[in-house]
Amino acid sequence: MWECGGRTFRHLARRRVAVGLGLPIIVTLVFVLRWANANKVGGQGPAEPFRIAGNFYYVGATDVSAFLIAGPEGHVVLDAGYPTTAQMIMASIAKLGFDIRDVRVLLNSEPDPDHGGGLAALQQASSAQMWASDPSADSLEAGGDDPDGVLALRALIWIGVLGYPPPRVDHRFRDGDTIRVGPIALTAHITAGHTRGCTSWSFPVQDGDRILSVVSACDTGVLATSTYPEQAADRERSFRRLRSLPADIWVTAHARWWGRYRKFVASQTAQNPADPFIDPQGYRAFIDAAEAEFRSGRTR
Ligand SMILES: [Zn+2]
Repeated sequence: MWECGGRTFRHLARRRVAVGLGLPIIVTLVFVLRWANANKVGGQGPAEPFRIAGNFYYVGATDVSAFLIAGPEGHVVLDAGYPTTAQMIMASIAKLGFDIRDVRVLLNSEPDPDHGGGLAALQQASSAQMWASDPSADSLEAGGDDPDGVLALRALIWIGVLGYPPPRVDHRFRDGDTIRVGPIALTAHITAGHTRGCTSWSFPVQDGDRILSVVSACDTGVLATSTYPEQAADRERSFRRLRSLPADIWVTAHARWWGRYRKFVASQTAQNPADPFIDPQGYRAFIDAAEAEFRSGRTR
């Protein structure tokens, strides 16, 4: 459902005439069907957890990403998938030899149910402090309700069909703030567009004797079901910011965009398992494609 990368809603966007009664009904049906599907397999089949580089690990599902950044004074988890992905993430953390109770900080890229859904469960299991941008914090604490969403969508959240158990947001950061846990330091970049509080993260990872720059890029695509007036200007700013970030390794909240499985398979036989994840060209191509989508005026 919240397949931010899908093209499901493009045809809806073109049918502006259907905005009256038709659109909410169609949107409702599509979302319910996709939600039902997503809770079975769509984007959250079980995936093997693995080390990407240094202390940076993948603990997410087949498509909805979740990351562990492990440290001697506690760990950070970024994103939590759907509500039902949380158990999978915790199993992955355990399989890698870490304890969920050592997770000190929870972060989020964007508060839609495919990335914010499992945060409350992870928080409950870990007692971790949750950090979020102001607009994301509001949505997270409202169980995924985004004031920019179309009414039909919001109504489904209000009646409990969509949405998720809200995590407790302990701290709100500003653009450019750095969140630290011992030696771990992640810098927040509010790259709005997909949502107002969409947050990209940059941080260094030590892999052997090299320091690699990691970027977790937030989606910049616009869903036809969630728009706001400053969205175009926000996206322009976000593209500039994302382009300004050095990225040896890049990831996104949807694993298919950054080639999780392909890179994971390649890492199994690589001389240095981190090497297949070093992909600055892929990062540029991702931004180029997102910007081309923006220039074309398409929504999803
Ligand atoms: Zn998504």
